[in-house]
Amino acid sequence: MNSKPLMPPVVLSATYQFETTADLMDVVQHRSGFIYSRWDNPTVRETEKALAVIEGYSECIGFGSGMAAITTAVLAVIEKGQRIVTIRETYGGTFAFFNTVLPKLGVDVCFVECDDVDRIYSEIDKGAAIVYLETPTNPLLKIVDIKPITDAAHKNGALVFLDSTFASPVNQRPVDFGVDVTIHSATKYLGGHHDATAGFVCCENAISEKIWNYRRIMGGVLDPMTAFLVYRGMKTLELRVNRQNETAMQIAGFLEKQAKIKAVYYPGLVSHPHHEIAKRQMKGYGGMISFEVDSDYDGTLLFMDCLKMVNLATSLGGASSLATQPITNTHAGLSAAERAKAGISESLVRISVGLEDAAAIETDIKQALEKI
Ligand code: PLP
Repeated sequence: MNSKPLMPPVVLSATYQFETTADLMDVVQHRSGFIYSRWDNPTVRETEKALAVIEGYSECIGFGSGMAAITTAVLAVIEKGQRIVTIRETYGGTFAFFNTVLPKLGVDVCFVECDDVDRIYSEIDKGAAIVYLETPTNPLLKIVDIKPITDAAHKNGALVFLDSTFASPVNQRPVDFGVDVTIHSATKYLGGHHDATAGFVCCENAISEKIWNYRRIMGGVLDPMTAFLVYRGMKTLELRVNRQNETAMQIAGFLEKQAKIKAVYYPGLVSHPHHEIAKRQMKGYGGMISFEVDSDYDGTLLFMDCLKMVNLATSLGGASSLATQPITNTHAGLSAAERAKAGISESLVRISVGLEDAAAIETDIKQALEKI
């Protein structure tokens, strides 16, 4: 054969047939091929290999969701009696896993506000098996200084995990700062079209073997059709994210000028408290913007309901612009005191900038602001 498919075939077969038992045993013992799709699948493997190259690690393991990736990777590495130091601002599902599941298994999780940098270092000095980071954070888009924290973790013998979902591989390359395990919810930028639920863990072989084995045991595998969608999404990742960076920067500037907006949180703005860190460690500032409407809960709700082109929807990172009021969904479970501590106000709005024309997004925001 002198040709082959340009795109990976979607191999839906759940099992594989062998000529001889010796061949089957070779796959069981050496992972030299495919035997059963909960172990490995050709389409999933192609997608994993592509992302490993993009993120600069030797290995990548695909999962059925970002949460399956996070939970399986952490459980594969952590032991009973060990300690994790993490930031309080991780994604809600991650926080719930750390706060409810891990303590039941005898793992001590220490949460530190990401702005409380001195305490992050002092907690790392007390000892940890894993330092778990996420940057930019949701929904206030705070930026964690990856390199010095990673260096401190390594000095104390800890592995560093980083959820890089909000940045995408285009804007941030955690391996360049020494991060051991880089995680993505591919439901967001990697898939990029709001039609795939998936997660990936990128790391080196010594760790990936453990995580792969835990995926096989716990079963949170990525299905081949979704792997294909992510593979296809990655073909346009750089184009999409660069465009989203540009549009978000323009819209952030536009929002800063609106009388009915009190504050804008975007790491690309000089007014952002972590702008200098972002400038150092990110290639672009991303497509996520949060802002405070100069109104109360009802006024902000009205603003949300008046948006026409920007969709009222949770999630992020895809072709369509999405808006959420965190207090009504992602942060609805927090008490007023917890929300105040986390800086999540009633009038906070988060926008995931899509691929639409920047001027059209601005026009939509403007008309919705005029209604309140
Ligand atoms: N990490 C981050 C930063 C997220 O925003 C999300 C979901 O919104 C996840 C992880 C979980 O990903 P998934 O919904 O694919 O399980």
